Amino acid sequence: MKRFTLPRDIYYGEGALGVLKTLQGKRAIVVVGGGAMRRTGFLDKTLDYLKEAGMETELFENVEPDPSVETVMRGAEAMRKFRPDWIVAIGGGSPIDAAKAMWVFYEHPETSFEDIIQPFSFPELRQKAKFAAIPSTSGTATEVTAFSVITNYSKGIKYPLADFQITPDIAIVDPEIAATMPKTLTAYTGMDALTHAIEAYVSRMNSPFTDPLAIKAIQMVFEYLPDSYNGDKNARAQMHYAQCLAGMAFSNALLGIVHSLAHKTGAIFEGDHIVHGCANAIYLPYVIQYNAKGDASRYADIARASGIEGSDDAALVAGLIKKIDDFNVKLSIPKTLKEWGVPEDEFKAKLTSIAKEAVGDACTGANPRRVTPAEMENILKAIYYGTAVDF
Ligand code: FE
Repeated sequence: MKRFTLPRDIYYGEGALGVLKTLQGKRAIVVVGGGAMRRTGFLDKTLDYLKEAGMETELFENVEPDPSVETVMRGAEAMRKFRPDWIVAIGGGSPIDAAKAMWVFYEHPETSFEDIIQPFSFPELRQKAKFAAIPSTSGTATEVTAFSVITNYSKGIKYPLADFQITPDIAIVDPEIAATMPKTLTAYTGMDALTHAIEAYVSRMNSPFTDPLAIKAIQMVFEYLPDSYNGDKNARAQMHYAQCLAGMAFSNALLGIVHSLAHKTGAIFEGDHIVHGCANAIYLPYVIQYNAKGDASRYADIARASGIEGSDDAALVAGLIKKIDDFNVKLSIPKTLKEWGVPEDEFKAKLTSIAKEAVGDACTGANPRRVTPAEMENILKAIYYGTAVDF
């Protein structure tokens, strides 16, 4: 038996945030990040609407980018004290992901972080609270997915947690909230969405339920991301919906080794983290080359659906890769990890362990082509130096 799970309701369109006024409950905790939602007024609106719904509210603020296990545990503690029957997470992927993990430890204080690293092993939720997710960026689609990425900083590893238990009850996809995204974030999150849709379409877990969502999302990203990047309001709104469609697809079809690599390289190098969507954008063309050496047919489907012409599968795949390369240039995304700024000696020193970790990542299982640690090392070398993947 297979399963296809989405939130019970997706409210979308300008002003969709107002649906919060209609929620039934006594207490809502609002989980939010660094301050953008406060500055733009959407946090106050959220709190006002919840009060209009007759709820007592509490704030859990300052969830950091790439949220830590410690932040998750602090949030769960705050929830145990306040006893909310609604968890309302608003912001980028980070506060929403953190709130999903907090939800688990709020409802099940006896559970440890190690207990839930194994995918689809979560205890049952919704005994204490329901969950509403309100994204302010157009990429992670965490508002509709069964995933949460939490970082263990002592190990320098991002853990993708996965279980349909943490698929939100309500997603509010209001383009007014995403209209405030800065340009760079628009590029990175847009390429994250494209990666989600492509990895979902070629995934071993692809299905007739996820394929149309993935293809439509890819078409919309190709059509609207450049204008969205340049600030066009309608294109921004369409990207907000496209990333959500991609999320519905990958939450059910899972992802592949672009994400395995992004998870395992995001926080491992000294200096700045490699922002998730930027990492995906850099890695995607190399992974397509690798996977298409196994079976190119589904990449060829994507190319045809995107209006790319080619006499055979190889030509179609080459056209698709070129299109993605061109997008990266337009969006000022580097072509290699070297160009991004990882020092060569550090890359070489960490290469073997990153490759091994990436093979073990939860996203590797659904990748269409099998990959050994040695092959993963070679993919990483190609990504670092910008060489062809011809193995
Ligand atoms: Fe992603």
